[in-house]
Amino acid sequence: MITVRNLRKTFQTPLVQEGRFSGLRTLFSRAYKEKEAVRDVSFEIESGEFVGYIGPNGAGKSTTIKMLTGILHPTSGEVLIHGYSPQKHRKRVVGQLGVVFGQRSQLWWDLPVKDSYEILTAMYRVEESTSRRRLGELTELLELGELLDTPVRKLSLGQRMRADLAASMLHDPDILFLDEPTIGLDVVAKKNIRGFLQTLNREFGKTILLTTHDMDDIEQLCQRVIVINHGQIGYDGTIDELRNRIGLPTMMKVTYRGAVKVPLTWELPFRVVEQEANVLTIACNRQELKAMDVLRIVSSWGEMDDVHMEEPEFEEVIHGVYN
Ligand code: ADP
Ligand code: MG
Repeated sequence: MITVRNLRKTFQTPLVQEGRFSGLRTLFSRAYKEKEAVRDVSFEIESGEFVGYIGPNGAGKSTTIKMLTGILHPTSGEVLIHGYSPQKHRKRVVGQLGVVFGQRSQLWWDLPVKDSYEILTAMYRVEESTSRRRLGELTELLELGELLDTPVRKLSLGQRMRADLAASMLHDPDILFLDEPTIGLDVVAKKNIRGFLQTLNREFGKTILLTTHDMDDIEQLCQRVIVINHGQIGYDGTIDELRNRIGLPTMMKVTYRGAVKVPLTWELPFRVVEQEANVLTIACNRQELKAMDVLRIVSSWGEMDDVHMEEPEFEEVIHGVYN
């Protein structure tokens, strides 16, 4: 449904020279600095997938999304959406795409939200009764009721983001590209937006590519993650596989009723990180060792009272890929 092949984007920025008349000189100078924002990115996304596209700042995420939506032309490589290039067949492709850039609203700043929606539905040539029905549904799902008559500049960031999400859905696209739609939002606003995105994917079968710095977004929404760093893909797969690949240890806290005796001479298949009175903290790689096997060993060291397991934080997992 979405095919990206050997996508590359190099930006050329005029080299700024130091000194007097530096501004003038750059006007005439032919010196350019090349920045390879996206180096060689390939992936395919099937209908109905919810994919997280993550990476550190400057990794090339937004540049990729701009090429996916046809805003930017690739230096080389190609994008196909339902078999069509968003650059060459812009009209055909745009109708199937919904796009949200969290950093930049697509709504008209001084107009009431609903006026922006009117302009957009006219631009997309959505039939009037259809657009009214759809706006009704979106208003309910995103709780837009009181926002519709408010100018965009008076909305809070969370309200604006909801208004923007609705705007991206007015023409009922089957694919959504979301570039940091939860940036800067508080916990409640994030939760609302997550709920909405989940509904779009699960109930309406929308295909979604989501860029975010919020690992909870990724964990709660995405079945698959693509990690990009320095313009190149470092990982493409499930979240669980990613955890396993990085091999961060699962921490187990074992509490004993009374004294615990850790045999010092043993070769243990896991690491005892800490012993504090009757509580042991153990790090084990669950790929190599089942929790039951760990428990079998530690239960012989005293009378166990409680076992607590902590999976590695997703944020740490991702950090492992970047570095
Ligand atoms: P991300 O969205 O992952 O933070 P971007 O795709 O915005 O990263 O940017 C990738 C790299 O390309 C960065 O180094 C950025 O400075 C550079 N870049 C992005 N847009 C431009 C542009 N229009 N001109 C020059 N360099 C750019
Ligand atoms: Mg970006």
